[in-house]
This record gives sequence, C-alpha cells and structure tokens, in this order.
Amino acid sequence: MIVGIDLGTTNSLIAYFTEEGPKIIPNRLGKNLTPSVVSVDKEGNVYVGETARERMSLYPDSVAMAFKRSMGTERIYDLSGHRFKPEELSSMVLRSLKEDAESFLGEEITEAVISVPAYFDDKRRKATKRAGELAGLKVERMISEPTAAAVAYGLYDKTKDTRFLVFDLGGGTFDVSVLELYHNILEVRAVAGDNYLGGEDFTEVMAKLFLHKSGLQMQKLSEKDQVRLYRQAEKAKCAISDGEKVTMTFLYGEETREEQITAKEYEEACEELLMKIREPVKKSLADAGLKLSDIDEVLLIGGATRLSIVRDFLIRLFRKFPDTKLNPDETVALGAAVQAAMKERREEVKEVILTDVCSFTLGTEVVVEFEEGKFEDGRFCPIIERNTVIPASHTERLYTARDNQDRVRVRVLQGESRFARNNLYLGELEIQVPPAPKGQESVDVTYTYDINSLLEVEVKVVSTGETRKMIIKGQDNQMTDEEIARRMEELSYLKIQPRDQEENRLVLLRAERMYEETLGDRRKKLDHYITAFETALKKGNREEIDHTREDLNEILEQEDE
Ligand code: AMP
Repeated sequence: MIVGIDLGTTNSLIAYFTEEGPKIIPNRLGKNLTPSVVSVDKEGNVYVGETARERMSLYPDSVAMAFKRSMGTERIYDLSGHRFKPEELSSMVLRSLKEDAESFLGEEITEAVISVPAYFDDKRRKATKRAGELAGLKVERMISEPTAAAVAYGLYDKTKDTRFLVFDLGGGTFDVSVLELYHNILEVRAVAGDNYLGGEDFTEVMAKLFLHKSGLQMQKLSEKDQVRLYRQAEKAKCAISDGEKVTMTFLYGEETREEQITAKEYEEACEELLMKIREPVKKSLADAGLKLSDIDEVLLIGGATRLSIVRDFLIRLFRKFPDTKLNPDETVALGAAVQAAMKERREEVKEVILTDVCSFTLGTEVVVEFEEGKFEDGRFCPIIERNTVIPASHTERLYTARDNQDRVRVRVLQGESRFARNNLYLGELEIQVPPAPKGQESVDVTYTYDINSLLEVEVKVVSTGETRKMIIKGQDNQMTDEEIARRMEELSYLKIQPRDQEENRLVLLRAERMYEETLGDRRKKLDHYITAFETALKKGNREEIDHTREDLNEILEQEDE
C-alpha cells in the first residue's frame, strides 16, 4: 500500500485509501495530528510529536520545530549537542508516521506520496524526497499542497470546468494558489504567498493584547514565562472563534493574571495581519489573469483558517462562502492519499493529470535600445515567466545589436529582477551569426522546462538554421543510495522511543511542566500523584500503571484549565 503524507510546518499527518475514500491514520496517541516537532536528548533518545513539543518548556535546547522552513538549506540544528540537517529532522517525523501506519494497517509501508508547498523549488523538493528515503520510504511522487486539497475536495470528479482558489494559512506560512480544472486536467495557474505569515502571528497578537491589558512587558518575562504565555495565548486564540469573548489566564511569578479579551478587540488588533493576507490573493489572481469574481470556489486549508476573523474576511473579499466540508487540517493528507491510490491505479479513482508551475522566471540577458543609437546592456529578458504551467516551452526572437556582430551569446538566468546582474546565472551558449547591419540577423531562443527541473536551451540562427543546444539540470544535490545508507547508519545511534510507552512519557512530561508552574498545596498534590505514577512505572505492573496514569491525567486536566 502506498500512503499519503502531509509533512507540515506545524503538524504532519498520514492517510491511506479505503473503499470509502481516503482516511487519516491515527498516531500512537490516537490523534490524527502529529506535531512536526523533534527532540533529541544528550543520550540520543529521540522524541517526536506531542512528547517532543511538551519538552519545549523544560528542555528548550533539545527541541526543533518549524524545520520545514529550512528544508533544502544548509542550516544545522543542534539538539543537546547532536547536529542535524532539516531533512534529517523531517525524516524522524516521517519515520514516526510510518511506524504508526504500519501498526495500524498491520503491514510494512515502503512507499509514500508526500505533499510539498507549490512554491517549493527543486532543491527543497529533493530535500523532502531525501527525508523520505532516510525514513525508509520511497517517494516517487510529490504532490503540491493546493493540488492535494483540490483532489481531496473531489474536484477532479467534476464534469464542469472550475476555477478555484486554495487559501492555506498554516502555523507559520501563508500560501494562495489559483487552480483550474479544464478538460480533466487540474492545473495550478498561479501561486503566491508570504513565508512569514501564519497562525503563530495571530497567537502573538493575542499574547501582546494580553500583556497590554494586564500592564506586563514582554522583555521582563523569562524564556519559560514566554513559552507559557504563548501557550495560553494559543488556547485563547482557538477559543475566541466560538464566542464573543475569552478569558485568558497567565501565571506570573506567584500570581495568576486573568484578562477578558473580546472578539472585537482581537479583530481590531489583527487588522494589520488581515491586510497582509490580501496581497498574495491579489498577486496570484493577477498572475493567473483573473478577477476575484472569476473564482468559482474557495477552499480553506491550514489550521488557522478556523479563525472566524479570517473566514469573515474572506467572505467579505470574495462575496462567497468558502467550502469547508473537510477538516482544514486533514485535507492535504487526504488528497495525498488519493494521489497514492492513483499511482496504484486503483479502480475507485480516475486518473487526473496534475501539472505544476514554475515558481521563478527563466530568461536571458539582452541589450536594449532605449533611444535611437543609445543602448543599455545588462537587461533581463524573461522567456518562461514565473507561474507558467510546466512542462512549458517558449521561444523568444532576439536581434543583433551591433553592425557586423558575428556572434550571439545567450546567458541563461533565473530570477525576477529587470537587471541581469541581480538574477541567478545558470549557464551560457554562444553561436555564430553572419555579419550584417544591426537588427538584420536574429536568433530564436527556446527554453523548455520540464517537471523534473530540466531546462533545455536551444538557440537557432534564423537565416542559416544552425542550432546549438544545452541542458541545465536543476540544483543537483541528490544523495546516492550509498550516501543515504551511510547517513542512516550514522544516525542509527539515535534511540527511537518504543511506541507503547509514548502516553506514559507524555503524561510525565506534562506533569513535570505543571509542577514547575504550580505552587503550594497544588504542587504538593501534584507531587503525590506523580510519585504514585512513577512508582507504578518502576514496578511495571500494567494495571497499576494505567490506573495511576489516569489519576494523574485527571489532575493535569484540572490544572491546565
Ligand atoms: P497547520 O500548520 O495547518 O497545522 O496550522 C497550525 C495553525 O493553526 C496554528 O497556528 C494553530 O494555532 C492554528 N489553529 C488550529 N486550530 C485552530 C482554531 N480552532 N482556531 C484558530 N487557529 C487554529
């Protein structure tokens, strides 16, 4: 069986295809969402998901999160003295999901379709693929997140051509994609986004609003205080969509501070963030050559689209109710599972052709004549524009700029600047042309860019038909099978925690944190229950463990209110 995986910035999910359609596989704690958080302690014990996140306030130096943002870069994360690349941390999340799926389905999983943001360039896609390989998963196909969302919404089943906008506001990133379903081809027409906007910004607004109302200052809070403040702000943010106001509490020193925050106050405080949302929406529509009113459907994905202020904003913007029949956290994983079923050629799904877009502009350097006889060189001439659907092939005819010019040099560049020097140089080709007065001779420059990031450049002299070609491969930082095997071996010192004790570990961590946060009698009471649970764990009596854990859990629930 091939599974579908949404490897998210904040949370990850794994899904499989059943006769009734795609379904999410719960993790070892019985939850659908596994936080994309990894923690490694000094001894090399690895914790993934909720347990890792719980370690954040107690052992901040041992925890990494949001590493998806650094995929494909050389960034190194130091966790308790062990060093990891972003794809290695991602591989630990993937491995945990793979194990959960194997235990749930009772079979070995060796292949997955993994979703990636539409704007991920080749380098980041390859890093994602490597993460899969390091986790023992073959990743032959990746699906872009908005495409997965569209697939999950069953838009591929539609007979009518549809244009839709996928609005994805996750924890730390914001992506807008315009897609079009046309004659059974699902095409990403344009993507835009903001890499520094997401649900966490909305949490920050809540935290600041609280500080403002209670007269506290962020600078005066310790690191641990801040972690706690954000946790409370996160809770308040998630609750505020359900009513007119929320009460947020925060333990500062020995005193519990409490403030009421109304939905209206919060909305006003978020105004700047809402304005930021508008820009990528406009840009993606402009790139796709569409107006707001051309959009037939708006699909919401990403946890932060649960915020009612975001939904209301979109309703006002599009004058349309977004489609919300699927859980916004789960849509992408479900779509990836459908894609996995397509790859397996399952009868239940009809194969749709999914295309992708080029996320940057490819062009060449030219000389422009801005006035009779006056030239400016070093200008950039786009050939395949950003957001062009790939595979794509475009030709541009370029003329000689000087009398008796005997050669034309095509410098291949990537980027968005009007000036060649600001764009990325990929390679160059030179070809002879017959000497003639300027502007008489010309060459046709054809760029062909395919889905595997191969760019073929062809230059043809129009008068003589002489042709030269070259192929530029996308950033090639692929690891060979041996390199992957070696790195897996190197990482094998890491001790992956046994699945069955996950819940015990999580409860203990939560209790430890709560112990730090409480005082006096509450602390004593907590200590009593922790000790009972620890004693049971030491004895190894299953019944006693379950019993004391439940008791402790109950106390924690009460304290965490
Ligand atoms: P994602 O990266 O898609 O998992 O989205 C995570 C973001 O969604 C985080 O910033 C969460 O705080 C946010 N989120 C999850 N549930 C809710 C909710 N009910 N209301 C507001 N934001 C939420």
